[in-house]
Amino acid sequence: MPIILFALVGLLAGILVNRAADTFPSRQPELALRAPQCQYCGTPRPWIDQIALVSFILLRGRCLKCQAPISMRAPLVELTSAAAFAFLGMRFGTSIFLVLALIYTTVLLLVLVTDLEHRLILNIVILPATLLAILASPLSPLGTVRSLLGGALAYLIVYLIYVFARVFAQLRHHAIKVPFGFGDVKLAGFVGLLTGFPDVFTAILYAILLGGLGAALFLIYQAVVKHRLALGAAIPYGPFFCIAGWLLMVWK
Ligand SMILES: [Zn+2]
Repeated sequence: MPIILFALVGLLAGILVNRAADTFPSRQPELALRAPQCQYCGTPRPWIDQIALVSFILLRGRCLKCQAPISMRAPLVELTSAAAFAFLGMRFGTSIFLVLALIYTTVLLLVLVTDLEHRLILNIVILPATLLAILASPLSPLGTVRSLLGGALAYLIVYLIYVFARVFAQLRHHAIKVPFGFGDVKLAGFVGLLTGFPDVFTAILYAILLGGLGAALFLIYQAVVKHRLALGAAIPYGPFFCIAGWLLMVWK
């Protein structure tokens, strides 16, 4: 299949990810079926606007009626998804695992967006995805044993980090700002199934290093640009698990 077709399918997946990210966190998933509207004036967006990339090129990313800007996230997600699908098409050729890799990529992208925007890793996304990764583990190039072992170990390791972080936070009376949420534990289990044993350890290490780098950049940004010391701010680790997990899933 030509790469351009993969990119087009990736674009469609990106549109679905944007829809899901707009509607799932509001606990009203049925809204995903409604035509998207301007979030300011409520005008339904014209059909050509359903593809945020096209909308950005033709309408410069603004609502036709009230000129309110449309979020930059939508075209970025479409572009990322199209590029990732094209890459996976080249990387895995026509294999059963390609279909799984495309589904897992879409799930990781959706988790990345909802965790960044709402600090939410939704059960409606992560639980079916985990079930699929368990059931489809015999089709993975890792094989069933390495895949299931990776998932179980990642779940256990991040669960222990989660428990220690909670105890530590309670000792210091920081009951709210726990760096790891239980969503991260479930996400780690999913990432472990995709990366397998022993690569899952590398994935966790990369996620923590990337998270630390992200936190440092965030603190520098807050201090230099906003002139404020944001030492208590909690950085979501989920997006870093998604990126590290995806990299280790494709580079084998
Ligand atoms: Zn508008």
